[in-house]
Amino acid sequence: MTPTALIISTKNPPRGALETKINKTGIFKKTLVCESGAAAIAVLQKQSIDMIFWAFGSLNESTEWLDAIQINPAWTDLPLLIFTKEGEQEKRLRGLELGACDSVTFVTSTEELRARIRGHLKRSQQIIHLRARRAELSQMALSDPLTGLGNRASFDLRLGQEVSRSRRSGSTFALMLIDLDHFKWFNDCYGHQAGDTILKSVAKAIDATARDADVACRYGGEEFAIILTNSTSINAQKLAGRLHKALAELSQKLWQNDNAMTASIGLTCFDGSRLADSGELISEADSALYQAKHNGRNRTEIFEPIITEPPILRDFNLDHQVTPLHAM
Ligand code: GH3
Ligand code: MG
Ligand code: MG
Repeated sequence: MTPTALIISTKNPPRGALETKINKTGIFKKTLVCESGAAAIAVLQKQSIDMIFWAFGSLNESTEWLDAIQINPAWTDLPLLIFTKEGEQEKRLRGLELGACDSVTFVTSTEELRARIRGHLKRSQQIIHLRARRAELSQMALSDPLTGLGNRASFDLRLGQEVSRSRRSGSTFALMLIDLDHFKWFNDCYGHQAGDTILKSVAKAIDATARDADVACRYGGEEFAIILTNSTSINAQKLAGRLHKALAELSQKLWQNDNAMTASIGLTCFDGSRLADSGELISEADSALYQAKHNGRNRTEIFEPIITEPPILRDFNLDHQVTPLHAM
């Protein structure tokens, strides 16, 4: 680690003396000096800083810059050490209250200053490490280890968020369940490990075919789900068509046959206007998926919540046949 120090001092002196004192500790590879909090923020935006030293000038000094640093997630854990003159008890206490991790005076010995800085840098490194580990664990809790897609927990979370958003704003989204056809046969034929490799390739194809805004997850086993944010039924059907095509290409690549591995897809849409929750939407997509299996597999079926109208045969000029489904 080659730490960089940032000194903030509105007055000179003590600016120069402070720089010399900090450099004497021999800890920092680089020491930057700013004449104001605003200038310090500009420096923080441009480069990585490990510790801030602030020469507390006057009790009337504005400390808005400090709030701006502390509420920024990238800087909130930066250790801030204040310098005051000997006996300036009021400033010292005010600085600590404002969030400084420590306070020293201009006559604090180099040895003591060095020890204090080292302690703060060590703690700061531990916090950075713990934060990274926590982010890693949350990522693991929400991702499927085999395919790297979001897992069921992530799907449930995102679907709940999307339902609430749709209710609030009336935005339309679609939910798609994808189930590989006769996947058990692939396991029986090639073994479970090869089955896993196929699932990885399918997940990659799904992820590559979905838009960036879509949320593709592994729902479980050989079933995948996509939440198509801000999407109409027509967009969703188009994506379903592209997915069938992508799987046909994968199938051609792996078995020189477009239809060796196929998937059935169930679709439902939501615009916030009807009283359905996440569980009901999953049931709707699932019943459409069941219908797709029932109607011969390798196809997409759409759940139709309107039960007062007779069935309408839609033709969206897709590569794959898509038929509407009435509420069951
Ligand atoms: P259908 O067309 O009706 O969906 O037939 P299917 O064989 O795909 O359906 P079924 O649900 O009977 O079987 C799913 C199979 O998926 C069972 C299991 O062997 C396989 N499977 C589930 N999870 C995994 C997994 O993580 N790895 C592997 N290799 N296979 C899995
Ligand atoms: Mg299944
Ligand atoms: Mg299946």
